[in-house]
Amino acid sequence: MKLLEERILRDGKVKEGGILKVDAFLNHQMDIDLFEEMADELYRLYVTENVTKILTVEASGIGIACIVGQRFKCPVLFAKKTKTKNIDGAVYSAEVESFTHGTTYKVIVSKDYLLPSDRVLIIDDFLANGAALSGLAKIVNDAGATLVGAGIAIEKAFQPGGEMLRKKGIRIESLARIKSLREDGGIEFC
Ligand code: 5GP
Repeated sequence: MKLLEERILRDGKVKEGGILKVDAFLNHQMDIDLFEEMADELYRLYVTENVTKILTVEASGIGIACIVGQRFKCPVLFAKKTKTKNIDGAVYSAEVESFTHGTTYKVIVSKDYLLPSDRVLIIDDFLANGAALSGLAKIVNDAGATLVGAGIAIEKAFQPGGEMLRKKGIRIESLARIKSLREDGGIEFC
């Protein structure tokens, strides 16, 4: 998506270790006009899929997910991060290794809000190693719901998540795909 690529080039900042900071419009301050354009595109891509639920993970996916939910006119559910070791039977859970923090956390979703009849579109801000998306896909699977696909704002295609999950048969649509992030700040798209 040209508009998002241009915004990344204008306001994105390349950090050490292959991290792209997009706090100016996506991860901290949020540009809702841009989110609306992104949501329109994701709606166009998944409109025929009869999506009944949007699933994301807290916190940075929630903003985009809400606007996407407005397009599909369906509820937006976010997986909560928890440190609790003993998870009770009322939730679906998955372990996620955080790319940006180098730690592992658990995400949970109440069984009340994810049903076998749901057709789920996962939304997230970034796809890197694929841990977050794998965790959410596991939760959808555990619920017996149907995963129609994932809509990602920024895929770092030089990391293995996208390829690994597409090979597993998950449809992934990324609005911007980054081929490389250079130490001098250069950003190249696929
Ligand atoms: P993955 O689980 O695919 O390795 O990483 C996805 C999650 O890590 C995203 O939800 C996002 O919060 C975070 N993330 C991964 N790479 C980046 C990055 O380059 N910049 C920022 N801001 N977040 C990232």
